[in-house]
Amino acid sequence: MKLLKNVRLYTGEEYFERGAVAFDDGGIVYAGAQSALTDGLRADVIDGRGGLCMPPMVNAHTHAAMVLLRGVASDENLNDWLDKVVPIEEMYTPQMIHDGTMLAIAQMIRTGTSAFADMYYHMHSVIDAVLETGIRANITRGSSSREGVDSHVSWFKDHDGAANGNLRVYMGIHAEYTSDEDIVSYAADTAASLGTGIHVHVSESAYEVAGCVERHGCSPVEYFDRLGVFDLPTIAAHCVHLTGSDIALLGSKHVNIAHCPLSNLKLGNGIAPVRDLMGSGAAIAVGTDGASSNNSLDMFRETKAMSLLAKGSLNDPKAMSAEESLRCASLNGYRALGFGNAGLIKAGMDADMIVLDSASFNMFPGVDPAADAVYSATGEDVILNIVNGKVLYAFGEFKTLDIDKVRKEAYATARELGIV
Ligand SMILES: [Zn+2]
Repeated sequence: MKLLKNVRLYTGEEYFERGAVAFDDGGIVYAGAQSALTDGLRADVIDGRGGLCMPPMVNAHTHAAMVLLRGVASDENLNDWLDKVVPIEEMYTPQMIHDGTMLAIAQMIRTGTSAFADMYYHMHSVIDAVLETGIRANITRGSSSREGVDSHVSWFKDHDGAANGNLRVYMGIHAEYTSDEDIVSYAADTAASLGTGIHVHVSESAYEVAGCVERHGCSPVEYFDRLGVFDLPTIAAHCVHLTGSDIALLGSKHVNIAHCPLSNLKLGNGIAPVRDLMGSGAAIAVGTDGASSNNSLDMFRETKAMSLLAKGSLNDPKAMSAEESLRCASLNGYRALGFGNAGLIKAGMDADMIVLDSASFNMFPGVDPAADAVYSATGEDVILNIVNGKVLYAFGEFKTLDIDKVRKEAYATARELGIV
């Protein structure tokens, strides 16, 4: 048993000025006022140093190994950007994907992320990195062929639910413009027969939507719905360019939207209609997308951007509150990724939590914990990251990876690829 004491505790539902959390790798045993803790609890004590304890961030859409491409092809639109990054990605070996993914995981752990939905390839290398580091992940290959779809079957059978439930395997379809109806139907049928979900890019750019209308006579949302995708638990990344009927459809199917505001802004794709989607019944989770189109994996930046874009685009400061923003970035993300028992710090839930540094300038004077977390903090303010009862980062130290080795190997890989 471990006991995190001396924290300001925001559970995702309630706030305790002086809180404590007792937990082990089976889950949270107690979360609440420190004063109400029973005497004689035998536990290893972690001193939270007065920091703000809260549910961690969940990155609902990324391509982790793209950290190797950070800074490549900036200031381009989606198509021109893809033309520049894809030829480099085609040179990746499984070892290179591992090295890039390890560096991405290190940045995510450091900046308060506990779980990420990854869509890439050579997914065995990603699985190895996830199992090595103790982070949670939902993995998919960005498939554009039947062979790509088939590769999910053995990953699902061998790894879904592995590592004390830290690993989930969903089906992955890259996008409408990189597949055809036969492949999408086959992916949806295969996912249904496995009993898993599906992760797909949807309506990211106006160009993509126009192309889909030309090819299929309908929007990407209507296209994927027609082929059965939204009858499965879905992570639909982006959803920027939507019609009113697209929004109603995504809401009626309760689709999980992986909203990636900074990547959408950087590639000049626009601003997703988040408030309308929420109103329709869709669930908004938050993702960074890959570090080549963001360029950070810091979910605190992303969450602030989401909230401010909603306020600014609707001329309404109440369009998205700090509490609602955190719910999207944490609880909704966990649910989208298939981790249904995490995202709130309360007894019976999985023991996932982070602590933000009380000594940070960003946290002074500490009037409103949710507002401090969303509008003021950055991921660099995280001092503790605990995932499924295991401490992954504490007070400047990575507990499950050798950061010097990870940096060295990723840099050598970037050099080998001619990126630096
Ligand atoms: Zn993406």
